[in-house]
Amino acid sequence: MLLTTDLPPEPFFSGAGLDRADALRSDQAALKALAVSADARELQWQDGLPVLSVDGRLSWSTPSSPELFLGIDGTSPRFTAIQPVVPDAPSAFGAMALLHPDDAPLFAAALSLSRWHGRHRFCAGCGQLTEVVRGGWSRRCADCSAEHFPRVDPVVIMLAEHEDRLLLGRQPHYPPGRYSALAGFVEVGETLEAAVARELHEEAGIRVRNVRYVASQPWPFPSSLMVGCFAQADDDALSIDTNELDDARWFTRREIAAAFAGQPDATFLPPPKAAIARTLLERWLAA
Ligand SMILES: [Zn+2]
Repeated sequence: MLLTTDLPPEPFFSGAGLDRADALRSDQAALKALAVSADARELQWQDGLPVLSVDGRLSWSTPSSPELFLGIDGTSPRFTAIQPVVPDAPSAFGAMALLHPDDAPLFAAALSLSRWHGRHRFCAGCGQLTEVVRGGWSRRCADCSAEHFPRVDPVVIMLAEHEDRLLLGRQPHYPPGRYSALAGFVEVGETLEAAVARELHEEAGIRVRNVRYVASQPWPFPSSLMVGCFAQADDDALSIDTNELDDARWFTRREIAAAFAGQPDATFLPPPKAAIARTLLERWLAA
């Protein structure tokens, strides 16, 4: 019997994080009262990133600029200030290595939301300065009344399977030896299934069917939603788009298990722990 503890873990950044308390967002008076309550806390930032403690937890203080309402953690209302665009901000990938999984969902929400406000101060319709409304979960233009919402950019990331082998690829910026799932942005007017099929055909030249959703993951760099899928390839002949990929090839179940076990004869380096590609591979191995 497969015990719950035997199941591969959920993707990093998964989980509710905290009660987002949507019903309070439009109640200005309630938000003001929450911001000055004894339990209220505001996220601490440095150089465009949330400050992490030595054990990888988010750092909080008494609110001084509670511009965005993140939600309620137990009895504690949580806020953050809008972060200005920092051109030379350090990469958040370093912070991710330290970040505690329990604080990861809130880290993702706060980073995406705060940076979106920093980059979207003006109305896309008429160019006027917009104002923060709904506790920070949208901006409204006083001039043309348009309302603008924090964007979420869906990205499909997928493992194509053919006769118990999986297709993995290498992007040019990967460290030596790493292979991972192929991925691409969903385009307007496209289903997730169509995006999976299109990307696999464009990047690897294969045709697929039976696309199945597996899991998703917010990826706050700056605002992606990774949608993890499996797909069945019709055949294994590859035609690789070398503008996108250094290489792509099929890996056997044994090769993938060896890579995850860190065996000395492993033929590739698997994706890092925070990547949903790793979760997809773990699910496939466990199936
Ligand atoms: Zn406008």
